[in-house]
Amino acid sequence: MTKTNEIQRFSFDNTNVRGERVLLNEAYQDIISRKNYPKQIETLLGEFVAAIALLRDIVKIDGVLSLQCKGNGFLETLMTECDENQNLRGIAQWDESKAIPDQISLKEALEGGYLVITISPKTGQRYQGIVEIVGDSLAQCLEQYFLQSEQLPSRVWLSANDTQCGGLFLQRLPAEQAKEGDEDAWDRFTHLASTVSDEELLGLPTADLLHRLYHEEEVRLYDAKAMQFGCSCTQQRTREAIASMGAEEIRQILSEQSKITVDCQFCAQLYVFSKDDLADLLGDLSQTH
Ligand SMILES: [Zn+2]
Repeated sequence: MTKTNEIQRFSFDNTNVRGERVLLNEAYQDIISRKNYPKQIETLLGEFVAAIALLRDIVKIDGVLSLQCKGNGFLETLMTECDENQNLRGIAQWDESKAIPDQISLKEALEGGYLVITISPKTGQRYQGIVEIVGDSLAQCLEQYFLQSEQLPSRVWLSANDTQCGGLFLQRLPAEQAKEGDEDAWDRFTHLASTVSDEELLGLPTADLLHRLYHEEEVRLYDAKAMQFGCSCTQQRTREAIASMGAEEIRQILSEQSKITVDCQFCAQLYVFSKDDLADLLGDLSQTH
């Protein structure tokens, strides 16, 4: 299998339709290898990873974009993130005491929970948008999100297996960006895209996939952007997380273990803090003895 970890934009000449295609293998494997995921959860996580890769290229911000859901049943949390350098990370947590259905419906998995997109620009306010749960799949929820947030008709196809995840996205741009003619381009392109199989979505390079779907159309393919697994955790951020527990709790842990160890759940990086490292967070130590 060729290693592909990239996202590629395309458009159709003389129409107002644009698209994106993402295909990830190593970057995705780096994410799912952190835990022993049940197959169904792994596949769902893969769809989320493909989705955040697409979203990151569509939503124009300089910063981090994350997609997160919280359920009340077997699926506890699932979150994926992508920064401005195409660094991807993701994680899922599930309740091992509960049965996981063979085919996961997102609506059932969330059981009254929620799905949220968080936009964290480098400067300025963080913004969270709740994604309405429609249909059974993440793809359907995202289509609804684009329609509501951008008023643009969009179609999304997502797929994942145990080695790869991929996605295809089509969007009809506003009328003023439309070029001459071709009124039914949107219907034709989405109809052709809906014939895509999981095998094609996960198996074909982007140029081949587009040729398979649109060999009679004028497709313009833009430069591919490389994506990779990457974690944003640092010693400083971990220290800030410890500081947020408060002096009392930090003292409590240090009295039992003499150091605080934190391992990042996304990348397994281990951070160790001694009593000396945390001295300034403890306040006046003489008061505790
Ligand atoms: Zn990390």
